[in-house]
Amino acid sequence: MSPKDSYSQFVNNPLGAKVASTLGLPQPVALRRYTPGEALATGPVLVIGESEGAHTIAGWLVDHRVDVRRDPGLKEKFSAILVVLDEAQRPEEVSAPLRTAGAALRRLASCGRVIVVARDPESTDTAAPAYRATHRGIAGATRSMAQEMRRGATANGILLADGVSASSASALGAVRFLLSGRSAYVSGQFVRVGSDAGAVPADHARPLAGKVAVVTGAARGIGASIINSLHRDGAQVVGIDVPAAGDQLAAVVNRLNGTALQLDITADDAGQRIIEHCRDRYGRLDIVVHNAGITRDKLLANMDAARWDSVIAVNLASQLRMNEAFLADRGATVSEQLRIATLASTSGIAGNRGQSNYAMSKAGVMGMTEATAPLLASTGGSMNAVAPGFIETEMTAKIPVATREVARRLNSLRQGGKPEDVAETIAFLVSDEAAGINGQTLRVCGQAIMGA
Ligand code: NAD
Repeated sequence: MSPKDSYSQFVNNPLGAKVASTLGLPQPVALRRYTPGEALATGPVLVIGESEGAHTIAGWLVDHRVDVRRDPGLKEKFSAILVVLDEAQRPEEVSAPLRTAGAALRRLASCGRVIVVARDPESTDTAAPAYRATHRGIAGATRSMAQEMRRGATANGILLADGVSASSASALGAVRFLLSGRSAYVSGQFVRVGSDAGAVPADHARPLAGKVAVVTGAARGIGASIINSLHRDGAQVVGIDVPAAGDQLAAVVNRLNGTALQLDITADDAGQRIIEHCRDRYGRLDIVVHNAGITRDKLLANMDAARWDSVIAVNLASQLRMNEAFLADRGATVSEQLRIATLASTSGIAGNRGQSNYAMSKAGVMGMTEATAPLLASTGGSMNAVAPGFIETEMTAKIPVATREVARRLNSLRQGGKPEDVAETIAFLVSDEAAGINGQTLRVCGQAIMGA
């Protein structure tokens, strides 16, 4: 159970809403979260754009029984607005489509979605300044739009690398993810699709069917949520945690028909022990989620070696070592299409006072992800990181009340995320549908100001 956000509960009753509105206080709404089998969209979807990509996405939505509009009209409410700008060459070309989207925003439903599809300015070979300016500019506009969203709505982008079409599995998979309740706490972010790799699952309610997934730090918090989501999505699950958390771990995995491995991941042979466990129980290993992590906060001036070293050992060095073992075993117990996800943090992006050790470990995780991704891609695998912002867990419940309340509200959704928000993003990234997304760090932070 996530700790309570009493303020959100207060403003979500009629009297509280009136008080908050009168005083101009933030009014967080209960976010729409994922339920398996949910429709692709909760109401009509407006698709703006005339490119081949726009027609492809509109056609795909129609094929999935979504009520698509290519013109905003005057009255209708939209559950989502897609702006497809993948062929834009010059800044002048995006003015009309973005302003059309803007004019339709007043009619965006509660917890609605804006998705902007453009080219990835960081992956392009095109040196033309106008082209780079256009696509970087679109990203800037999208971030600002996300800050203007109301009533739990979000705005995100999908950035396609050169040569990747809007019809690729991961581009459409990203549209599905961003439309769904899985992305409830993702806003102002960009899903970068780097290749045409990816396979559409036979059953969208169980995209991980047939896979064996390992989650470290699974006894509680975000890890317990991740293992839950992976199991619900069809995977057989292995939970790992330190022996001291053995009872809690057993309680989590027993509910999911999974197996537990009591293991300190800093052990030199941790990777090998995981492979052996999976070989003996399941004969395979397809997905690894490096979730276990610790904080030992102190200003650097007061930092002792034990605090620094333990954080680096658990959060970063252990993952580097385990990944070496997993990569070396590919084709045996470990699948050639191994998918790894890891937990970064917005502290690793922006830094955070008192967390130089933690920020080093989490920024390091992002570097590791970038460098490991191509190694895995050579056999069809992938690795991505998720950077959570303020998530309601036992860890954040211990933050002093004033600091906690500030951290909770300083984002575009005016509330903390839930462990399941992180879990749903990870479940998407480790699915075969997301294979074209590789080496990325995706933030699940409600567009927190920290790390902006
Ligand atoms: P948590 O402390 O509630 O859970 C972490 C789990 O990891 C625990 O069960 C712990 O026993 C286990 N663990 C710790 N050291 C281990 C080791 N050496 N070997 C095996 N297991 C070990 O933490 P959480 O809040 O659920 O965070 C999970 C991950 O998300 C961490 O990597 C954390 O840095 C990251 N994160 C959390 C937040 C947040 O707001 N809670 C924000 C950003 C990032």
